[in-house]
Amino acid sequence: MDFGLTSEQQMLVDSVRAFVAAELKPHEEEVERTNKVRPELIQQINEAAIKAGFYAANMPEELGGGGLDHVALTLMERELGRTSFALQYAVARPSNILRACQGDQIERYLLPAIRGERVECLALTEPNAGSDLRSMQTRAEADGDEFVINGTKHFISYADVADFIVLFAASGSEETGPRNASGGAKRKITTFLVDKGTPGLDVRPGPHSVSHRGFHHCELVFNDCRVHKDQVLGEVHRGFDVANQWLGATRLTVAAQCVGRAQRALEMAAGWAATRKQFGQTIGKFQGTSFKLADMATEIEAANLLCLQTAWKTDRGSVTDADYAMAKLYATEMLARVTDQTVQIFGGMGLMEEVGVERLWRDARVERIWDGTSEIQRHIISRSVLRPLE
Ligand SMILES: Cc1cc2nc3c(=O)[nH]c(=O)nc-3n(C[C@H](O)[C@H](O)[C@H](O)COP(=O)(O)OP(=O)(O)OC[C@H]3O[C@@H](n4cnc5c(N)ncnc54)[C@H](O)[C@@H]3O)c2cc1C
Repeated sequence: MDFGLTSEQQMLVDSVRAFVAAELKPHEEEVERTNKVRPELIQQINEAAIKAGFYAANMPEELGGGGLDHVALTLMERELGRTSFALQYAVARPSNILRACQGDQIERYLLPAIRGERVECLALTEPNAGSDLRSMQTRAEADGDEFVINGTKHFISYADVADFIVLFAASGSEETGPRNASGGAKRKITTFLVDKGTPGLDVRPGPHSVSHRGFHHCELVFNDCRVHKDQVLGEVHRGFDVANQWLGATRLTVAAQCVGRAQRALEMAAGWAATRKQFGQTIGKFQGTSFKLADMATEIEAANLLCLQTAWKTDRGSVTDADYAMAKLYATEMLARVTDQTVQIFGGMGLMEEVGVERLWRDARVERIWDGTSEIQRHIISRSVLRPLE
């Protein structure tokens, strides 16, 4: 077992860190102040990322992507996590779900996403279907060569910028299996690729989140919106088959970014503790502060190792849903504790927008909610513990 980075992996970490410092960090203050990333800035970051070879780093090399394995990707995500979420998002890693594209879909959606010409967003959540996605009410009814879509999605990130939507809609129902907790008919889900601008699709601004300024969420209203059957991603009624692979990798991405953000918080907390004086000495000399720093450093390292191990297992093909859930659960909860302690170490200054610590604390909050809440991750993990005994 070797826990060290190879020279290529170390080079990747160094070059992504340098990219973040040069191309992203200088714009953080503007994004915080204006709560937006200007379209020209998104374009500028896109171009810089393509030039640096970081754009679509998760996609296969033969399709024009970076071809990074999951360990390398996790290292990259960790570095990108050190800056504003809205800015790093412009260094697109197209959703792995797009690898399910077939036939014309490859030219129309997958390759343009890899080349940086088109951007996608993913629409699962609805006002009445959050954690319980199978209860979604947006429905797609077959009508000749088309499907007619009706319903409403909400909290759909980046739909304001995206060119097309990876949409999940109920296309039928089947008998409930014994493990379906909600009872009743279980919905069959189909995934569609829907272009923005399709008649019957309305993209509306959503409510404002306190986390991740500049990164917005929309409401999508489908009213007799017609899409051709060629726009079905994967197979009809098998939408969750394509979603499941993507969900795991996304949870690892969230976890890795949390590690990067926590490292940044620790650096800020340590810097403050080493210089801020009270009672005639730096506050880092008080055990009440230094032990906080010790716990933060230990937890960050534990989350880091968990992420890298999950990535390593992914590359070896032995990863489980529980592995992804553990990485997401631990890293997101760790970030909440670390950023909260960072504010505490800064005292009153920690709450001032100008200092930049409250942002890390505020941004941390969403991580325990999106891409599956902490409670849902615990369900997945506990199932893996109990199921062998059933
Ligand atoms: C800023 C933001 C951006 C988002 N972006 C997207 C996006 O781009 N695309 C998309 O599709 N979705 C997106 N989401 C939706 C996100 O994935 C959901 O918010 C999340 O899955 C939780 O659903 P919910 O908010 O409806 O909460 P609910 O499911 O209503 O949960 C409320 C509470 O009940 C708990 N709970 C629910 N079921 C159980 C259970 N079985 N056991 C124990 N506890 C339970 C939850 O853990 C939570 O604490 C986004 C959300 C936010 C906040």
